[in-house]
Amino acid sequence: MEKDFDFGIIGSGPAGYTAALSAASAGKKVVLFEKDLIGGVCLNRGCIPTKTMLHSAEIYEMVNNSLDLGICVDNCKVDFSKIAERKRAVVDKLRNGLERSFKNAGVITINAEAKILDKNTIEAGGKIYTCEKVIAAVGSSPRVIKGMEYDHKFILSSDDVLDFEKLPKSIVIIGSGAIGIEFSRILSAFNVEVTIVEIAENLLPLADIEVSKRLERIFKAKGVKFFTKTSVEKIEKQNDKVQVYISNNEIIEADCALLAVGRVPNEVEKVDGVIYIGDVAGSIQLAHFASKQALQKVVQIPFDETLVPSVVYGNPEIAWIGKREQDLETGTYQKAMIPISALAKSQCDDALDGMMKILVQDNKIIGAHIVSKEASSLIQQLVIAMQTNTTVDELKAVCFAHPTYSEGIFDCLMRLK
Ligand SMILES: Cc1cc2nc3c(=O)[nH]c(=O)nc-3n(C[C@H](O)[C@H](O)[C@H](O)COP(=O)(O)OP(=O)(O)OC[C@H]3O[C@@H](n4cnc5c(N)ncnc54)[C@H](O)[C@@H]3O)c2cc1C
Repeated sequence: MEKDFDFGIIGSGPAGYTAALSAASAGKKVVLFEKDLIGGVCLNRGCIPTKTMLHSAEIYEMVNNSLDLGICVDNCKVDFSKIAERKRAVVDKLRNGLERSFKNAGVITINAEAKILDKNTIEAGGKIYTCEKVIAAVGSSPRVIKGMEYDHKFILSSDDVLDFEKLPKSIVIIGSGAIGIEFSRILSAFNVEVTIVEIAENLLPLADIEVSKRLERIFKAKGVKFFTKTSVEKIEKQNDKVQVYISNNEIIEADCALLAVGRVPNEVEKVDGVIYIGDVAGSIQLAHFASKQALQKVVQIPFDETLVPSVVYGNPEIAWIGKREQDLETGTYQKAMIPISALAKSQCDDALDGMMKILVQDNKIIGAHIVSKEASSLIQQLVIAMQTNTTVDELKAVCFAHPTYSEGIFDCLMRLK
């Protein structure tokens, strides 16, 4: 029997909206279900609101450090309610744009919780929808730790921090993955007293070891406190404060604590024949990974899941791709590294903190690790080189503009014997 739709897609985050728009532009009939706000975590409670807040934090930090650059600003103040208002406006604008794109593409959107009945049938809002293919892109939620459940006032998830209307004076951030580090950077730039507690040996444990160590130096210089190889044993609330008991027997007191300890896939019916993509699939939890998976499944654009760049935003940005040095056997690879301060552009910008490191095997790049202004864009050049199997010799023949941070890639490569 003919089905009502070619695609039934549950969830409107990067995985779901990319699947819906690419299927519709390939001429397919699409119905999309969303139980909350269109755009998913990325647009409403993730990538976009964090980077919007971060932009204000960076401007504040920059203005406060601008005397040496010949800019004198008296009485520079933060109006956090305006920052929160702008964040909402940016998110609303992008969400409206996405909703318009669905309309223009002919995607039917149903604002309701959907349930998968079988591989071709979805139920939502009391109605049944039959579909040739069902895609579940239902995302993830903040991990809950037993005994430290979110109360949304003292023990917070990233959602709660994004809802701040007023800044706390102090916060303990538990976990130093990308989310923990980005909030540490945003809040410390606004002069909130931040203390990070990380159970691993170093901050940002998924990064190359030199990147983690560089970040630790930057935090020390900025006065961001952190404990590594330390776990949180309990959190108590007392007199409008939290007391965070950590494994070295210290107790940290702060206005609140953010648990940034990872995200867990949302629950969804597991049915053979249904396609699961994005955070719910339980692999890499990044928006660009989710949207590439969608394109691969819906319009068959190939996707090399081993070449997914990671970016941690803030000042300076951190980005990497491929192998980390600590995972390689000594003597099996070549390494070229420069401090970012070696670049003319970094001197012009007074953005001297950082490094660039490229790892090479058999004349091919196998890993790249950047701490620098513009690292989020710089890393893409290395992803393209790796994905297209471009050799180091071929890259050396490329003309890089001056003065730019991109020249650092060239400088690194020229250091290789
Ligand atoms: C604070 C923060 C910052 C982040 N920053 C970045 C970043 O800078 N870069 C990056 O790449 N990633 C970032 N991420 C991760 C990124 O947001 C996720 O990887 C991405 O949103 C996953 O997309 P998704 O489509 O799989 O799921 P989601 O975006 O989680 O969307 C899933 C959607 O499905 C809906 N849904 C669930 N169940 C149902 C149901 N039964 N019926 C109907 N609808 C349902 C949900 O309401 C939700 O809207 C960040 C995450 C957080 C929390």
